[in-house]
Amino acid sequence: TRILGIETSCDETAAAVIERSGEKTEILSNVVLSQIADHAAFGGVVPEIAARAHVEALDGVVKAALDEAGLALDEIDAIAATAGPGLIGGLIVGLTTAKAIAAASGKALVPVNHLEGHALTARLTDRIDFPYLLLLVSGGHTQIVHVEGVGRYQRWASTIDDALGEAFDKTAKLLGLPYPGGPSVEKAAADGDPKRFAFPRPLKGEARPDFSFSGLKTAVRREATSLAPLSDTDIADICASFQKAVTETLSDRVARSLARFRQTHPVLETPALVVAGGVAANQAIRAALDALCENAGFRLIAPPLRLCGDNAAMIAWAGLERLEAGLEEDEAMGFAPRPRWPLDQASAPLFGAGK
Ligand code: ATP
Ligand code: MG
Ligand code: FE
Repeated sequence: TRILGIETSCDETAAAVIERSGEKTEILSNVVLSQIADHAAFGGVVPEIAARAHVEALDGVVKAALDEAGLALDEIDAIAATAGPGLIGGLIVGLTTAKAIAAASGKALVPVNHLEGHALTARLTDRIDFPYLLLLVSGGHTQIVHVEGVGRYQRWASTIDDALGEAFDKTAKLLGLPYPGGPSVEKAAADGDPKRFAFPRPLKGEARPDFSFSGLKTAVRREATSLAPLSDTDIADICASFQKAVTETLSDRVARSLARFRQTHPVLETPALVVAGGVAANQAIRAALDALCENAGFRLIAPPLRLCGDNAAMIAWAGLERLEAGLEEDEAMGFAPRPRWPLDQASAPLFGAGK
């Protein structure tokens, strides 16, 4: 089975081809065209610019993915495209293009929830079995999800304010570091003193399993304002102290759900925590989660860096998983993009509802 994946939910125009033969799945191509340069001057993604850039780039990106895979369209079995959540303009461009390709080629269309792509990617590279616990940390989401199977997701925790990636992006912006903020903050933090500033660890020690990051961001702003003008050392120390606060908070919060997962699945010997989403690229966060898992008797599964941020291989993979689970959508061609689409509503019976 060969699947063409298309991803346009934010500021990456992406297409990929994956091939499944027997137990083996191979990524034949994974083309990601980042719009970073288009948005950098604005310090964040501008929806109108993003939609236009997707229109201009998508045809070429799809062609490049097919070329790199060495395949013609009629050698593809199905087309999976992100149908939400995300910026509506980009979703329309990607899903409509996918529908057009599906209609012209007579292939199946599989609308995919972008978060389901992040959630299932670990199974593409690490062959991990259900159930597992997922920590999804991205630009728009911070959640812990109990993943029981394809299309079977229960949200156990979420952020009550900012997403973690958003906290990195806002911190970078107020320190004058380049967009996107996550990699900039991580880089600056490498030379900084994590003990110089005592930033808060929001919700640390609380019984509820949720996350909060806006207080941390506010504390960073207060410190940055009082120190201004900032030297390079100040910036490095703020980033290091911020990242330290993030890893400690994250470890405390995730520990709650590891315990719950243990109780839910007492017979699993070495349960897995999967970390996914753009923020999962952060090495300090990976190291903290690794230590946490080691202590709790879990194994940490983190996708390779190129599959952490947005890409279309993960969408093709989620499409393949849905097809193999018999969850294809009868009226896929009529499926409307969903700017908001919680992962726990990507389950089988609900798929296709709300058109
Ligand atoms: P969502 O998946 O929630 O719809 P998104 O698709 O925009 O949002 P991703 O592309 O998965 O999010 O992740 C982008 C986010 O990851 C940005 O906020 C970015 O700053 C953050 N990020 C990327 N690399 C790193 C890093 N090394 N450290 C911390 N954050 C990072
Ligand atoms: Mg992005
Ligand atoms: Fe994403």
